[in-house]
Amino acid sequence: MRALEALLDFLLPPACAGCGAAHAGGFPLCAPCDAQLPRRDEPVATHPSLDACIVAVEFRGAIEDWIHRFKYPRPGIAGIDVASGAVARALALEAAMRAPAPRPDLVIPIPLHPRRLRARGFNPAGLLTHHLACALDLPQDARTLRRVRDTPSQTGLDRRGRRSNLRNAFSCARHVPPSIWLVDDVVTTGSTLAEAARVLRRCGALRIVGIALAATPAGRFGA
Ligand SMILES: [Zn+2]
Repeated sequence: MRALEALLDFLLPPACAGCGAAHAGGFPLCAPCDAQLPRRDEPVATHPSLDACIVAVEFRGAIEDWIHRFKYPRPGIAGIDVASGAVARALALEAAMRAPAPRPDLVIPIPLHPRRLRARGFNPAGLLTHHLACALDLPQDARTLRRVRDTPSQTGLDRRGRRSNLRNAFSCARHVPPSIWLVDDVVTTGSTLAEAARVLRRCGALRIVGIALAATPAGRFGA
């Protein structure tokens, strides 16, 4: 942990990632910038395949820009954006710390299809999973749950459309332990988390908690 803290100190000089003001706190944003984040304390209403879904913030205002920068870095050296990554990691940890006990046996990211992973170069949910696993000393597994169908974007689809778009999108390569944290970046209707959770349950998961950075304000699971 000490090495991780030293690395974070190196990556995050004591200045606010939002306004640049001198700032020595643990969170990458100073208190005024932090206070502007639209925190979401109540869990996202869950789909039956999930036991709970915890997010740190609502996906609106400045947070949209932070998360967009984290998910879609510009190519090359211009894409090195330490601040957005630090904010995303801090929000993921914040959500995870509010997850109902007990801690999971395994942390799993929502996977990208290999073709999309190659095109993008990284999986944002995978980075968040890695951070949570390292920070909280939990096992992680980015291989067991696979995206086997390259589904079109969910954007613009209603709930029913999203569900059918995701049919047979995931497969599970082996048995999983009973308690899982399933990590994504932004929750919209929850269809993606719900479908992935359904597949994990077929492979042995008994308790699945979704962990994400943000939920769209209208994001609700259910029928
Ligand atoms: Zn600030």
